[in-house]
Formats: sequence, C-alpha cells, structure tokens
Amino acid sequence: MIVIKNSEQLKKMRVAGRITGEAIVLAGEAVREGVTTKHLDDIIRRHIEKCGARPSFLGYGGFPGSACISVNEQVIHGIPSPDIILKEGDIVKIDVGAFKDGFHGDSANTFAVGKISPEAQRLIDVTKESFRLGAAHAVPGGRLGDVGHAIQEHVEAAGFSVVRKYVGHGVGEDLHEDPNVPNYGTPGRGVRLCRGMVIAIEPMVNAGTYDVKELRDGWTVVTRDGKLSAHYEHTVAITDDGPEFLTMV
Ligand code: MG
Ligand code: MG
Repeated sequence: MIVIKNSEQLKKMRVAGRITGEAIVLAGEAVREGVTTKHLDDIIRRHIEKCGARPSFLGYGGFPGSACISVNEQVIHGIPSPDIILKEGDIVKIDVGAFKDGFHGDSANTFAVGKISPEAQRLIDVTKESFRLGAAHAVPGGRLGDVGHAIQEHVEAAGFSVVRKYVGHGVGEDLHEDPNVPNYGTPGRGVRLCRGMVIAIEPMVNAGTYDVKELRDGWTVVTRDGKLSAHYEHTVAITDDGPEFLTMV
C-alpha cells in the first residue's frame, strides 16, 4: 500500500531528512586515509542523537551499526568496523537513515579516499548524474518506469550496470514502504506518481556486472566480479512544484 503524506507529515519528513543529510556530510568530511568505518559510524550516531533522533538502521533486522558503510566492491549494507581502515584510492559508500517524530529519512553518498583512479571517479560521477536524470521524472503524473529508465540508460551508456536485486523504495513512518523504485525500467510503465508520495531513489551502479552476492556475515552485499560499486540516494517528495529532495543539505 502506498501511503500519501499530507503537509504536516511532510514537514516532519523534512526534519528527519535534514538530520540524515547532515550526518552524511559530517561523515563525508571525515573520510580520509587511516580512518576506520567505525569512526565514521560514531560521527553519524552522535549527530543523529544530538538532534533528538535515532539511527534508523541501528537494530533494523538486527543490523549492528548506525549506518551502512561499504568500501570498494561492497555495494550496500557494509557493517562499520574498527578493523576496516580506509586507504588512499578507496571509495566508500555511506548510507544513513534518521528517525525523528515518527518519520524516517534515507540517503547515501559515495566518497573518495584521497586520490582515486579516473575510472572510480567516473563511476561516482555517472551514479550521481543518473540520480538527477531519474529524479527529474519524480513529478505528479510521472511513472516509476520513467525514473528507472532514465537511470539505467545513462548508466549503461557509460558502460556500467545497475544492480537489479536491490532497489529504491517508499519512505515514511516505515523505512521501507511501497512502492519499489527500481533503477531500471520501461518508459510509461510502472506506478504512477502523485503529490504526497515520498520515495528513496537510489542508484547502485557497478563498474562490471550487475550481479551481486551477500557475504557470510549475513549483511554485506558485494559485486560478484569484485569490481567497484557506487551508490547515491536521496529521499524525494513528489510535489506540484517538482521533486523535493528532503535529504539534500
Ligand atoms: Mg539508504
Ligand atoms: Mg534506501
């Protein structure tokens, strides 16, 4: 069931979204060689709690971290660890949710550790560009197939692939609501968007095959071919004035 949000609820979602976005910016500023993913997770938890919110992911299905932090070939759901030390050339994906006043925000970004390869930079750039192209279709009357198609077309034209197994989703009182928001699709098909819907658009883009697998820790998803992956996500409200990016700060 797709839950439509009224203006009061959207107001609350803006607050949860802002906290989420701020936490990612703060963690992103701390990304450098020698830093552990646990350190980044601590920064995120401290900011969210300082704002009177709680980390959406902490304890979700038993997840042990406040954020999902995934390095290089890890696609999503990486567990923050004091043993994972960032090194020059890595790319690190930070995925954060904050729950405040009954509503969640959900956002992710990919950061470079020092100097990275031109190919890694291009992967990050194409992923962000694909988000913007897809989100441009997040308007009343638009279809989710338009969003997914725009993402897929841009990614594949660049020689990369979009993950099929994991997709975006509605966001609200639950972290994951209907509808599913795939990063692939057919124009003119899929759920029709209307004012008051709030969705997380989140392209996960692999340098090689779109195929992924889960590690034995029960969480971390990695590319099957071991090549790099990038992730970019915002919580997006569908409004009469166009897409509103609730987690963009
Ligand atoms: Mg997320
Ligand atoms: Mg999400």
